[in-house]
Amino acid sequence: METKRVLNFSAGPSMLPVEVLEKAREQMLNYGNSGMSVMEMSHRSSSYLAIFDNTKALLKKVMNIPEGYEIVFIQGGATQQFSMIPMNYLKNGKSDYAVTGAFSKKAMQEAKKFGDVRIAFDGASNQYKDIPSQEELQLDNTASYVHYCANNTIYGTEWKYVPETNGVPIICDMSSNILSKPVDVSKYGMIYAGAQKNMGIAGLGVAIIKKELLQPVPERTPVLLDYTLQIENDSMYNTPPAYAIYVLGLVLEWIDGLGGLEAMEVKNKEKAAILYDYLDSSDFYKTHSNKENRSLMNVTFVTASKELDDLFVKESIKQGMTNLKGHRSVGGIRASIYNAMPKAGVEQLVAFMKEFEERNK
Ligand SMILES: *Cc1c(COP(=O)(O)O)cnc(C)c1O
Repeated sequence: METKRVLNFSAGPSMLPVEVLEKAREQMLNYGNSGMSVMEMSHRSSSYLAIFDNTKALLKKVMNIPEGYEIVFIQGGATQQFSMIPMNYLKNGKSDYAVTGAFSKKAMQEAKKFGDVRIAFDGASNQYKDIPSQEELQLDNTASYVHYCANNTIYGTEWKYVPETNGVPIICDMSSNILSKPVDVSKYGMIYAGAQKNMGIAGLGVAIIKKELLQPVPERTPVLLDYTLQIENDSMYNTPPAYAIYVLGLVLEWIDGLGGLEAMEVKNKEKAAILYDYLDSSDFYKTHSNKENRSLMNVTFVTASKELDDLFVKESIKQGMTNLKGHRSVGGIRASIYNAMPKAGVEQLVAFMKEFEERNK
């Protein structure tokens, strides 16, 4: 039976490409004549290892990951890695954090437990509406690493450049914009993400790590929080999030088949422009973030009042659009338009916004 699917604007877990869901359904009961589903496989079986290796190879291909980098699949999402980063990469106790939103703040607070954190930028006083310019970043040349979050899921801002750090390794949380556009991996010491936004489903965290960055960790470090040990065991010291890795492989196949990250970027720019152009032409709605650093993934805006925001969300649900309510810390409205959201979905949202404006202005 086909059920009607809604347009899901959730920030995460979020919409998956319908082609991916169909493939997973098709392979659900009997994966490649194994006689079982991927969920039921031993992670050390040859059937599963082929899936695992394929996902890794596809990630390398799609993100154009150069030699000298390792891929780690891990449980605990992005948040666990907030803790792992200082545990693994502090050299002299010093690290720099650019705080441009809620998640970079959480990452910074975690690092404070392990060493001296310098705040290279703090956007709190301006409600996290902007991203610092290179000149505004106060970097310490002796820091072990510089951490920033490439896309601020809650506030709807995105870095449009990779900061120059004088050779200090950059560690970047790309949870909400990874796979949305090409990135030059070679500029980073480490890129990491929770998978449930643009890579697949919850339960999987991904890290892409420059080997040079690795160093022995303090002896008391828990085994699963040690990146080197994870790499030495090819992410299989214990049972990895096996089904989530399989879904990531399906998502990567889908992206690859559509022309890779260049093609994703073209589509994502087109979709975001439809929304932002309308928002800019309207006096009824206001965007949260400053124009220069608006996110292509999470579009945040408000109407004139909280009552109208609530009414907007309520009515949008009746129109088959869900999860448009802004994050509880910001309020208003947020449309998350990751890779899987079709252009037609964004057009439908804008048509509803126009009609809502007409009735309520
Ligand atoms: C969602 C999100 C996180 C948290 O991810 P978990 O996998 O739930 O730990 C961290 N950073 C960013 C940018 C996010 O969007």
